[in-house]
Amino acid sequence: MKVLEHTLSPGAEKAFAEISGTLKKPLVMRAVDRNHPASYGYTVEDRGVHVVHVQPALPAAAFEEALIHELLHCQQREAGDVGLVPRRQGDHLAMLLASTINSVVNDRAVEARLRALELKSGLVEAVRMSSTREALAFPVPDHLRDVFALFSAFDLVLHRVTGADPAFLEEVTEAYAALDDRVVPNADAIVAIIEANGSDTPAQRACSIRAIVEHIGWQGRFMLVVDGQAEEL
Ligand SMILES: [Zn+2]
Repeated sequence: MKVLEHTLSPGAEKAFAEISGTLKKPLVMRAVDRNHPASYGYTVEDRGVHVVHVQPALPAAAFEEALIHELLHCQQREAGDVGLVPRRQGDHLAMLLASTINSVVNDRAVEARLRALELKSGLVEAVRMSSTREALAFPVPDHLRDVFALFSAFDLVLHRVTGADPAFLEEVTEAYAALDDRVVPNADAIVAIIEANGSDTPAQRACSIRAIVEHIGWQGRFMLVVDGQAEEL
């Protein structure tokens, strides 16, 4: 079968059929739009329809990985939509941090499924690794040290929970430790929280997110939305 001009491999076609077969809401496939040119894929729900956007210019294996990755997010969303949002619209730092926290918790489960399906192309990791290396190459102004340390800890968490290459993990752990001694202990603590609370079910994801927000002391800046019900943290 063809998706956005890509003929899927048998493994990807089987995964596509199985996962999309479990979805109750209709699915629409689209290429990534002009507002997200660098993105591999993302999914939004629009009036009860899953709209899955994937970058069609990707090589075949990476396209399939991005496609199934997004379908797994649709499945997660139908099982129970759990998402952290900023309490106030103009709180851009909270918005950025909310999307980072959602990503480490939700992607952990998705990446584990992709590995089990043998649909990891390695390209997503390669891009994540090069963006970390680029981030490490920029000098950090003193007044942004605290924010840098916090976001770096989450970057390290993302590499760890999504199963990055051990040699790369060692390299990046050393580099972050050299820049700021808070990063690695904080990443260790956040990984321990996610491992203790889990990420497979909506209830587990909600527990992990609540515990992370408490750990970083950002209560008051977020709301946790569980199936459309907003809860103050
Ligand atoms: Zn994802």
